[in-house]
Amino acid sequence: MSVLIIAEHNNQQLNPATLHAVEAASKLGEVHLLVAGSGISAVVEAAGQVSGVAKVWSADAAYYGEGLAEEIAPLVVKLAEHYTHIGATATAFGKNLLPRVAALLDVPQISDLTEIIDAQTFVRPIYAGNAFETVQSDSAKLVLTFRSTAFTAAAAEGGHATVENVEAAPAQNLSRFVGRELTQSDRPELTQAKVVVTGGRALGSAEQFDALLTPLADVLGAAIGASRAAVDAEYAPNDIQVGQTGKVVAPELYIAVGVSGAIQHIAGMQDSKVIVAINKDADAPIFNIADYGLVGDLFEIVPQLTAALKQ
Ligand code: FAD
Repeated sequence: MSVLIIAEHNNQQLNPATLHAVEAASKLGEVHLLVAGSGISAVVEAAGQVSGVAKVWSADAAYYGEGLAEEIAPLVVKLAEHYTHIGATATAFGKNLLPRVAALLDVPQISDLTEIIDAQTFVRPIYAGNAFETVQSDSAKLVLTFRSTAFTAAAAEGGHATVENVEAAPAQNLSRFVGRELTQSDRPELTQAKVVVTGGRALGSAEQFDALLTPLADVLGAAIGASRAAVDAEYAPNDIQVGQTGKVVAPELYIAVGVSGAIQHIAGMQDSKVIVAINKDADAPIFNIADYGLVGDLFEIVPQLTAALKQ
């Protein structure tokens, strides 16, 4: 059995999210990586060093440069005959590309896997992470996306993959790249951060969200997250929303500030190793999953906590 993992990258660097899919795929068979992009020599070199990767396919064409699913899917289909499983990490990139691949191949896709039982049997969350179902397929070929927080990352170095160029599939021109707005931040990326400080509706305004959470996150070297209520109220941008319809995180430490703990929020952070909740309502559901709970007013507790951590 062999598995093709589609590498996520920005034409210069391999996204660490891909390392989780490589580690998961190594449980299924020999792992090959496809790097499709434009001017990708550095990414191909990095991909070749990932531990557990036997082969890297390199496809370099201008129209692969922006990661458009409509362009990359036919290339994946071209390589698919060699593989029993085709996969990617369940990021926005993987979730966009792989259903298209599955449809073109006319094979099933099993999404957001959290466990591999055997080559045909997988576990995945349903009902916003409130239940897990075991899915078995008898298809000879499967398309899979892996939840990054459920699998450790393969080591970025130590591998010695062979590299082979693959001819680009013809340009499809079904979609056109218009632009990308990237958040510039010195903070760790939310889904990769070891510590996450998340604010909820109780912060009350964008100014208070920033004034209370930024110093706390700074002292902890943390990424900042937000509940959907905080995003909807425009206290925080929606790319930092944590939850069912936001990012899924599993840091070493998750601090929820003024977050009630709705099931849709918990779906995105319940695998965190240590959960700290600050909430004035002792009956808030977040305390059901918190390892440490502070009942009180966040406007008093957070500055005290930040000051204590600074000492
Ligand atoms: P609230 O529920 O309003 O909680 C605020 C909390 O702050 C309360 O517990 C309160 O006791 C506490 N508080 C108030 N004042 C203070 C104070 N001074 N000091 C300390 N504590 C205080 N939500 C997400 O977060 N992520 C998602 O991805 C997501 N996806 C969704 C998808 C669907 C289909 C639906 C229907 C909902 C989704 N939601 C999601 C919304 C979710 O149901 C909740 O509405 C949301 O999580 C609530 O956000 P909150 O905890 O910030 O606000």
